[in-house]
Amino acid sequence: MSSADLPPLREVIARYGLNASKALGQNFLFDAQLLARIARIPGDLTGQPVLEIGPGPGGLTRALLAAGANVTAIERDRRCIPALAELSTAYPGKLHVIEGDALEIDAAALFDTAPHIVSNLPYNVGTALLVRWLSAEWRPWWQTLTLMFQREVADRIVAKANDDAYGRLAVLSQWRSTARIAMPVHRSAFTPPPKVMSAVVHIVPADGPDRVDLAVLERLTAAAFGQRRKMLRQSLKGVPGAIDALDAIDIDVTRRAETVPVESFVALARALSPSRPA
Ligand code: SAM
Repeated sequence: MSSADLPPLREVIARYGLNASKALGQNFLFDAQLLARIARIPGDLTGQPVLEIGPGPGGLTRALLAAGANVTAIERDRRCIPALAELSTAYPGKLHVIEGDALEIDAAALFDTAPHIVSNLPYNVGTALLVRWLSAEWRPWWQTLTLMFQREVADRIVAKANDDAYGRLAVLSQWRSTARIAMPVHRSAFTPPPKVMSAVVHIVPADGPDRVDLAVLERLTAAAFGQRRKMLRQSLKGVPGAIDALDAIDIDVTRRAETVPVESFVALARALSPSRPA
């Protein structure tokens, strides 16, 4: 079989009995044009390694293969594996499917060259995977992230200070990466349609700021946003040295976490990070 002979996705679903499982967060995409647009977001994928989590019946996988990528896909639902094997046959040597739980697999170890990660993520594990990828040793083992989220989560990833959605996820997503909404996706694009709208987020890592410890930054944002309506002098009381550091870098202690931009959290974390030898 060649790629031109691939059966329509709806036929694949019917043939392999892939009725969508809610527990596995299955909302499938069938629109080839939409899928091709998502596959273009990371840039030219010709010959590039790509990690896809949750290929399901393989709609996005087809678009990634058509864009020339070498795809490694991790799928938990055993029912999808034979359907994906058909795709491997159509693109010999270009698709490697691993059956398993993405939360339990060390994906970094699967690659010699940093992959792009492109995925219509299962919503129930999407944020956990994102936090893991953003917390990796920097520069990370991946090149870029192109990920579908519920719109509300996408908004939290790209939010700026003073936005309603601004919080810990925004700081983690932006302190050493750029994060943007690349494409809003209407709920009706999915089968079955989820209750809420979605969006594809594109994240590109940058050099991490010098002398900032991620664990310190996380402790600060957990404390600050844990009591987001409180002034920093109250919410950061339990973080040793934080109040003095606020003074030292000229951040008013009466401000609330939601008004403090990412760069200021970074400056505060730097002031509190153990100094490393130059
Ligand atoms: N990529 C397909 C598409 O765009 O139509 C399916 C996307 S669907 C939202 C999410 C997929 O992730 C499903 O195929 C589901 O079985 C799979 N999945 C759910 N939890 C998973 C996990 N922990 N590890 C790997 N795959 C998972």
